[in-house]
Amino acid sequence: MEKPVDKHTPIYPIRTAAKLLGISVPTLRMYENEGLILPYKSPGNQRIYSEDDIERMRCIRNSIKELKISINGIKTIYSLIPCWEVVKCSEEDRKICKAFDSYHQPCWTFNHKNTICEGRDCRECDVYRNYSKCTEIKELIKKISGIK
Ligand code: SF4
Repeated sequence: MEKPVDKHTPIYPIRTAAKLLGISVPTLRMYENEGLILPYKSPGNQRIYSEDDIERMRCIRNSIKELKISINGIKTIYSLIPCWEVVKCSEEDRKICKAFDSYHQPCWTFNHKNTICEGRDCRECDVYRNYSKCTEIKELIKKISGIK
């Protein structure tokens, strides 16, 4: 029996991913350039996408097309994810981390020099992986606020 593919395993080359999403390759690249998506890059520098990446981009696509949220609006929403609560960084980290005060860019687009996040592979980070939808961000905020 074939092993089921984990939803985080990169399997789709860029053209297949674009086809699955019904978007063009340049649009997919634009999502990456804007910091909305972090594709896996093979040793030969090919972008490869997982099932989870496809789901994330579908959500971005719907937010743009149906909810009329702009790319900047999505970046702002991502920038509001309280990464410090997920990663449990120190007060010192927060003082020097530009992501902590940003409300324009998701934390994974920053250089996290001299913080707990330095050298972190953001694709593997819970902040990037688990909070790609508004509902998930809101659930996290409720959890932090102690609301069930
Ligand atoms: S990105 Fe910055 S604020 Fe967020 S967890 Fe890492 S060090 Fe803390």
